[in-house]
Amino acid sequence: MGTAKPGRRRRRTDGSLATGDGSETDHALALAAAALAISPAGLVTDLDGTLSGIVPVPSNARPVPGAVEALRALEGRLAVIAVVTGRAAHDARRILGSAGERLLVIGNHGLEWLEPGAVTAEVDDAVAPLRSAITALLARVPALPGVEIEDKGLSATVHYRRASDPEATRDRLLQSLHEMRVPELEVREGRRSIELRPVGHGNKGTALRAIVDRFGLRGLMVAGDDVTDLDMFAVARELRSEGVTSTVLGVSGGREVPAQVAASVDVLLPDPDAFIRVLGRLAGTIR
Ligand SMILES: [Mg+2]
Repeated sequence: MGTAKPGRRRRRTDGSLATGDGSETDHALALAAAALAISPAGLVTDLDGTLSGIVPVPSNARPVPGAVEALRALEGRLAVIAVVTGRAAHDARRILGSAGERLLVIGNHGLEWLEPGAVTAEVDDAVAPLRSAITALLARVPALPGVEIEDKGLSATVHYRRASDPEATRDRLLQSLHEMRVPELEVREGRRSIELRPVGHGNKGTALRAIVDRFGLRGLMVAGDDVTDLDMFAVARELRSEGVTSTVLGVSGGREVPAQVAASVDVLLPDPDAFIRVLGRLAGTIR
């Protein structure tokens, strides 16, 4: 598993390594174009770290330049474009600007579906009562310097990116969250963040499968950057044995990219800008 320096050496599906000279972008484009040429085809992508860079203050995240235009250019050429994110669905739509209203936005790691143009997101009735458990748990998270709590209604993220000692802060947060464990909620780590979310009500992988089933997809491109995307990557690979041609693109955050992400993708792109270059060029390849 050649993942020690994912920003420089990139494993390809054929075992060779891309060299960081842009050839991984060409490789990604070729795989994605082949998958999306098979109709009905869909694009399913994460938001933070994939369409946008990771920023110190999460509410300030914005798509990288060209992202909105690239998504708009693909509209009408694909059966569906979906953004599947850990954010609340409306928050993700806000960040996506003029593209957000027109896409299927699935928030809270698959728990919340916001249809294109819809005002209200649809939520599984079984999940809604967990809002109060999340709020109660968050009230007991220790107030450490540099820690920011994002209450997303159906889930929450505890960010420690701005802590002066992120590793020590992470350890303290994890310890206290495990001590006050709530059986209905699971604790999962992301990039400089800890996620709290309902157990057994789906994840990004179940969301992906629901999208593929609903639109009858035969061609699929999936993109993400973090461990919460692994469920989606696994489903994209499983679907190959069910006749779906899928391409899985990883987006690196340099040294921060989790090793499991680098090991689970067909191509690892160096950053969100490279992913957007692939998206921008894709529109010209799909009729
Ligand atoms: Mg992400």
